[in-house]
Amino acid sequence: MKNLSLTGLSQEELVTFLAQLGEPSYRGRQIFRALHHRRLRSFEEMTDLPKDLRAKLNELATASSLTVESRFISEDGTRRYLMKTHDNFPVETVFIPEERRDTICFSSQSGCPLQCSFCLTAQLGLLRSLTAGEIVEQIIIALNDVYGMGAKTPHGTNLVGMGAGEPFLAFDSLMKALRIIADPSGLHIVHNRVTVSTAGVVPRIRELAAIDDRPHLAISLAAPTDELRNVLMPINKKWPLKELLAACKDFERSLKPGERFTFEYVMLDGVNDADEQARQLANLLNHYQVHAKVNLIPHNPAHPLPYRPSPPHRVESFRRVLESKGIDAFVRRPRGRDIFAACGQLAARGEANFSKESASFSR
Ligand code: SF4
Repeated sequence: MKNLSLTGLSQEELVTFLAQLGEPSYRGRQIFRALHHRRLRSFEEMTDLPKDLRAKLNELATASSLTVESRFISEDGTRRYLMKTHDNFPVETVFIPEERRDTICFSSQSGCPLQCSFCLTAQLGLLRSLTAGEIVEQIIIALNDVYGMGAKTPHGTNLVGMGAGEPFLAFDSLMKALRIIADPSGLHIVHNRVTVSTAGVVPRIRELAAIDDRPHLAISLAAPTDELRNVLMPINKKWPLKELLAACKDFERSLKPGERFTFEYVMLDGVNDADEQARQLANLLNHYQVHAKVNLIPHNPAHPLPYRPSPPHRVESFRRVLESKGIDAFVRRPRGRDIFAACGQLAARGEANFSKESASFSR
């Protein structure tokens, strides 16, 4: 019971929990606001609650379960947090400051069971999936660190589920967390500010399409043929491109006006970045008449991964071929490479030849 994390409960569940303790329903709403709007991390800080209630809550539950082990700050302002769950598993979160809107990249699992060969997280294997509360807490911790506890965020916040893990393998926790995060009495980051990226768990793509308050979808593609994708993303052996693209086509029917979904394409020097492969990719998307855009992501090198990033002229040439065949393609600027915070680099790295700061900041 002590491991009941109140951060992972919806407002209704909190009201029910407090009712079971003989408390009126406004207490549940008050605590929800304290956790998610004021972003308080302990019952002691909720000084507007009676002392005996705080003591009772402390006996039965926790207001926070993640602890920050280290924080790394990139020269471009990106921050990476290495945290630990109550049972000692690593969790990583990245805060990316941007001109118009900040982005927080959260993890859905500790480690990852999928074996994408260009990704450092894969080397950890799956440690465990995260709970809804652990997903929500990542956002609270990053916002408190950057802006101070409970302070309004000046630009608003976008969320991307592109950290460690395959979000669709933690589907229930993920969807619950996103509903808690969207609650107007709390963090109030609504679903159309959230993008979740999958390596291609086909049944979940269709399941997501049927959910009304769903986040945007991104799909990591990395290769235009089954032969190459089997090597780079072995999940392709289970759900090959034909099945993946058919699911994408179905998903497309759920798009709201003005909404598009995205294919992420990591660019590996000499592996998947030839003009011929750009043509194959364009033909594939055009064959299925999928009107998604393609984000080209230069690989983020990390020892011991065997790949190098495609040089800029190759990325640009690849982009032009896609555009010439009617596919909208954009090049994504890597962020936080120097602190191992960029895509595919999350592997709970604590050692550092870069600026590391201890966790003695306000959470
Ligand atoms: S790219 Fe994503 S799905 Fe693939 S191993 Fe890395 S974290 Fe897992």
